[in-house]
Amino acid sequence: MLLNDIVSILDNELDSPNVSDYCPNGLQLEGKSDVRKIVTGVTASLALIDKAIALNADAIVVHHGYFWKGEKQAIVGMKQQRIKKLLVNGISLIAYHLPLDVHPTMGNNAQLGKLLNIQNVKALSASKPDGIVMAGNLKETLSHSALSQLLSARLSHTVVSVGNKCEIATVAWCTGGGQHFIDDTANQYVNGQVIDAFISGEISEQTTHSAREQKIDFFAAGHHATERYGVKALGEWLMENYSLEVIFVDIDNPA
Ligand SMILES: [Zn+2]
Repeated sequence: MLLNDIVSILDNELDSPNVSDYCPNGLQLEGKSDVRKIVTGVTASLALIDKAIALNADAIVVHHGYFWKGEKQAIVGMKQQRIKKLLVNGISLIAYHLPLDVHPTMGNNAQLGKLLNIQNVKALSASKPDGIVMAGNLKETLSHSALSQLLSARLSHTVVSVGNKCEIATVAWCTGGGQHFIDDTANQYVNGQVIDAFISGEISEQTTHSAREQKIDFFAAGHHATERYGVKALGEWLMENYSLEVIFVDIDNPA
């Protein structure tokens, strides 16, 4: 399949031209014009590129690509090594950041909700873009420690948490580095009930105080761990709908 066709299919499905972001979404580095095999992964690290080369992939699709707003522009050091490897091997880099967080079914947030079996999911309107924070009801009310154990088991990751509620019925979440959204979420309601807990990937020092002072339990379940599922779902969707071979590669990350 032609690279340009794949990119327009993805841009269109993820509505990426209409989502403002801190990086370019879509095709970031152009490789071979014909694509048969794609590797998907969370971050376009050197380890993922090496794996894509070993698998003979023609393109990589990731959540965390390159060219972030505010980063040094010169292509030197680590950045040069990664880009050189991609260009020398003719591998295209396709990246979707916020568009892949907020997609209503394949997005990181939607996928985490599905993994945790959360019911009556709504996007919280206080946070933009729409869908960056979602909320809903747990299948059954859980204690703080039971929810921590559920997250840890489903995501295969160590969970850092703040709070000790006995009954958590409603949760809101934003995958990855979305801990600051706790302040948009505290004292908000979903399905007529106050939100008991907020889940994200990472925790900052101030998140602890936000959680304690606004009486909302908080769980950091891993930036990488909470963001594996969007790009994986996108790859599966590509494979089901187009004649492409897509392989998800999980490069372990303790963060
Ligand atoms: Zn992220």
